[in-house]
Amino acid sequence: MPTEKRVLFTTSYIRDKNDIYNWMQTNVTWNSKLHADRTISPGLRFIKQNIPQIEILEYPTWEQYMSKLKEGWDIVGFSFYLNEVAEVIKMIETARKNGVNEIWGGNYGILTKEVQPYFDRIFTGYAEHEIARALDYEIKEIFHPPLIVPAGLPNLHINWMGVLFTTRGCAYSCRFCQSPSFANKVTKVPIESIERVLAYYRKIGVGGVVILDEFFGMNTKHAGQVVELIKKYRHFWWTMTRADLIYKKLDSWDDGHLGLGGLGLGLESFNQAVLEKINKKAEAEEVIEIVKDLHSRGIGIIGYYMIGFDIETPESIKRDLEKVRELKLDATQICIITPLPETPLWDEIEHKYGIFEKDYRKYNAKHLVWNHPTISPEEMQKLLHYGFDMANPRRSVFRRLDKIILGTVKTYGYSGITSLIKNLYRSNVVYRNLKQPVLFDGHKTDIQRI
Ligand code: SF4
Repeated sequence: MPTEKRVLFTTSYIRDKNDIYNWMQTNVTWNSKLHADRTISPGLRFIKQNIPQIEILEYPTWEQYMSKLKEGWDIVGFSFYLNEVAEVIKMIETARKNGVNEIWGGNYGILTKEVQPYFDRIFTGYAEHEIARALDYEIKEIFHPPLIVPAGLPNLHINWMGVLFTTRGCAYSCRFCQSPSFANKVTKVPIESIERVLAYYRKIGVGGVVILDEFFGMNTKHAGQVVELIKKYRHFWWTMTRADLIYKKLDSWDDGHLGLGGLGLGLESFNQAVLEKINKKAEAEEVIEIVKDLHSRGIGIIGYYMIGFDIETPESIKRDLEKVRELKLDATQICIITPLPETPLWDEIEHKYGIFEKDYRKYNAKHLVWNHPTISPEEMQKLLHYGFDMANPRRSVFRRLDKIILGTVKTYGYSGITSLIKNLYRSNVVYRNLKQPVLFDGHKTDIQRI
């Protein structure tokens, strides 16, 4: 019988509590006070739900990390992103000094070849099965953990959202994206497990669900079953998806009763030459039509837009940002195109122009890290902020509120307004200090010793 190893998995530490990534604050030039903080690590929670023997630590302070390290561990694993490499290297060096024998690594950061030698073992993709086997266990079926996040203002939660992953991985091959290198095989989360998590969210009063697949709808039949379940448990839902897919699916996703509140949509660019170059199979005109349709249905839209491709100039970027402004999206994320390791774009940019930036903290899609033929890093920063002002003016907050209220009425009738008020009460009074469970009651897993 193999001996049980003491295993700790952690994210990168945070330098101070305001250091936590906040999606909203990173995409506006004004102080929005709207929060969508990243406070939990879905990847680590999937691992914990399926291999409960592993302890996890999410976004600890340095002091919390040190105190945990002193408990003594055989293996410490790190789940991290490229811009967290410096923090993780510091954590690894400290772990080794504190007697940790083995260091494991995973998540997108591990695709960076130059950090791989710091690890004794690396895992690419969604690796619960592989991790379990490395610890002499076998998982038969993956269970989805409960993942609940508050959203709203610092002192007023508008809602608690249940996060849902229905498939993981992506079979497309957009040239800028690391997903094909990270997980190019799409795996479905079992439908029974999805039902369990949706029922749980409903039971504890979390009415909103946000689907965070690479993009939702990749497997048509599975996505259809998920939508039926969302309807069964009367959830209001948001998802990430692709413009070309919405064309085919919108009528069945939004039949007026399902509570489709909003979509995250990769616009990427309004320059058709750029769309072809990055292998994104979408037409700019098609995206504009879809957005009009979504507005007419009262469905919220978060757009994802990129600037700074090599064929773009300051003039062309400003011209295209004008088109983004005209779309009147509810929120827009604007990124500076950033070559990421193990992508075709990295190879192309490195070869043609050279990548000068060695500080990986700047690989957060808000900095120019390579030698653009016509735009300097300083000018790109100005263009980024110009884009924030164009795409996310203060009045867009009111557009969002409009849609929340109208969407609720559309889904639940006028009684929905009462639910909205009850929801506010629950979110701020009942759940004020909700410590969400890391595991379901009973810790259901399908794991066995090999
Ligand atoms: S951008 Fe989206 S669709 Fe394209 S490869 Fe990445 S995850 Fe897949």
